[in-house]
Amino acid sequence: MNDRLELNYSTLFSSFAKIYWNLVIHHNLNQINMTDKKSEVQRILLDVQTRYQIPNTLVFDKLSSDLQVEIISKVKRKCKLNVMGAIYGDTGYTIYDFDNGKEQLRLNSTFYSFMQRFQRVLNYFTNYHLALFLEKFNEKGDTTNLLLKVENVSKRSSLDQFYQVLSSFYSGKCFYCGKAIKKDNAHVDHFIPWSFVQADQLWNLVIACSGCNLSKSDKLANGIFLDTVIERNEKLLSIQELRKREDMQVYTSNKLKDLYHYSVENGFTDFWVPKKMVL
Ligand SMILES: [Zn+2]
Repeated sequence: MNDRLELNYSTLFSSFAKIYWNLVIHHNLNQINMTDKKSEVQRILLDVQTRYQIPNTLVFDKLSSDLQVEIISKVKRKCKLNVMGAIYGDTGYTIYDFDNGKEQLRLNSTFYSFMQRFQRVLNYFTNYHLALFLEKFNEKGDTTNLLLKVENVSKRSSLDQFYQVLSSFYSGKCFYCGKAIKKDNAHVDHFIPWSFVQADQLWNLVIACSGCNLSKSDKLANGIFLDTVIERNEKLLSIQELRKREDMQVYTSNKLKDLYHYSVENGFTDFWVPKKMVL
């Protein structure tokens, strides 16, 4: 999402395709309010699965990038016609407008700040209702640990690719405690907790030792680290190759400060500091 609150369809439908794939293929959950029918997107995914004989065990991230692109473009084509206008009408034309030619939607700014202010509770609320819905229209066996499945459905299976990019910037030391870390003990950590941002973007990721990563867990780091991440991100932006990345293009230090501020407002107030800092 850029400053004008515009989001392109590729970004939108890649999340959509991923969540849908993980729900209906990986977890075998029916995603329609009739027990013996399939939704159109579900049919697209099942068709790809059958054609390439993909086992259910594979999450979306583990599919080849060619296949991911194929799925996203099919899902996009379908949703462009059936979903964008339907939700637009259902929400009384109030929360976004869209342009199918430019393949872009734009959020209403009042709605956007409402979502940021109440993000955590909105998230719980939608997960809860999605779980209720799925429970109603699926077999008992498939709905075990349903809330957990729903919560983790958009989680990335591995952050290795980010480690590759970040490793040349961390000088072998933990971002938080400064301790020297060996490669096999290095974790990629979400500076603003994943459960709040629900996304993996380079500017929010740092390399931490396993001790810090595990004890920080879902907590927000103390504000003293905010300036350090912002400084680190300036370094990333000074590299032309990284500046061109999609996630870096929408980054600004104000955006990160706002996110930090919003996560505090949403209840991330148990500020974490490392046990011991190496200065
Ligand atoms: Zn550490």
